[in-house]
Amino acid sequence: MGNAYFLLPGPTQVPQEVAMAGAAPMVNHRGPEFAAILEELQSGLQMIFKTKNQVMTLTSSGTGGLEAAIVNFISPGEKVLVASIGNFGERFAKIAAAYRVDVERIDFGWGNCIDPKVIAEKLAADKDHAIKAVICQHNETSTAVVNPIKDVRAAMGDHPALLMVDSVSGLGAADLRVDEWKIDVAIAGSQKAFMAPPGLAFIAVSEKAWAAAEKCTNNRFYLDLRTHREFLAKGQTPWTPAISVFYNVVAALRIIREQGVDKIIAEHYFRRDLIRRAAQALGLSLVAEDHCASPAVTAIYAPEGVAPKALTKQLREKYGVVVAGGQGIMADKAFRIGHLGYVEDLSLLGAVAALEMALTDLGVKVQLGAGVAAAQEMIMHKEKYLRPLE
Ligand SMILES: *Cc1c(COP(=O)(O)O)cnc(C)c1O
Repeated sequence: MGNAYFLLPGPTQVPQEVAMAGAAPMVNHRGPEFAAILEELQSGLQMIFKTKNQVMTLTSSGTGGLEAAIVNFISPGEKVLVASIGNFGERFAKIAAAYRVDVERIDFGWGNCIDPKVIAEKLAADKDHAIKAVICQHNETSTAVVNPIKDVRAAMGDHPALLMVDSVSGLGAADLRVDEWKIDVAIAGSQKAFMAPPGLAFIAVSEKAWAAAEKCTNNRFYLDLRTHREFLAKGQTPWTPAISVFYNVVAALRIIREQGVDKIIAEHYFRRDLIRRAAQALGLSLVAEDHCASPAVTAIYAPEGVAPKALTKQLREKYGVVVAGGQGIMADKAFRIGHLGYVEDLSLLGAVAALEMALTDLGVKVQLGAGVAAAQEMIMHKEKYLRPLE
């Protein structure tokens, strides 16, 4: 079933049960069957977001969720702080700017995570509370860095700004506790750690954010979350939903519930450590430092003289391993191995073996088997390396 060596940071591989669920016949999206599906979906989403707040579901890709966050909660001319650490931080800033929001970007540099002290200083200096939201990524997919969201929240102190977090590639892979960490708006998508096909975006919204939505002056229609909330109360979505993808996601959330969210997240951290150790055993350099390395994806610098595009092509064409190239300013520097969602440890072992061969093909001196041995050690003694979530 599927390709065990399909290792993108989204879309990700879909388990057979999840794929099959999507093949079920249509139901009336204004009838009781769909209401039951929405109810199960809502409870699964609340489990994975760790929230009692309602989670809105949009038929759109993740970017539609980001756009909904801007258009519903921030009015034109209002100020937001965008803490950017890569390509998706830039995207969030661009969406805000498109809605004529006054964007102050703080660039922490590609490969770094947010320094919460800088956020604390900015907000402390904002005496008249002009800043309406702090916006950031949970997991920055382009650099494979995870942000310290809990510390960002703490750094905001009692400043009334909303905290809006793009967790499209983070949720279900890295820990995120929406209620405990007081995240006002958290966005996820179906095609990353959810191990479902693309097509749905999810937005958890706090009471404080709903109050901001009432005052927000933007014109909005398809993405008006107030309409979505109204329809959710009667077990519907306002517009025709991507019904099949709802089936997929409900099936995936059943698997996630059965295995346990925290256990699944711990497995992601294990896979991260496996890939990083293997890459280091091959003498490769990693983009992210250990303390902020993503459990969803790993970005690795291509060795001197090797174009990431040539490497990903070799991996795909000769060995059937699909990994991602670099993104944005990293396009000519790094490649990325996704290890989020439905990924087996032995798939990563195979990917490491292929990486050794592809590098050798391209004239890089690597010791064949060095990365594989590092990965084998971790898989054989998994109990030693798999750390439960605190
Ligand atoms: C994938 C992703 C998105 C959404 O991308 P779409 O292609 O619109 O689904 C947003 N933010 C991050 C961090 C992502 O990884």
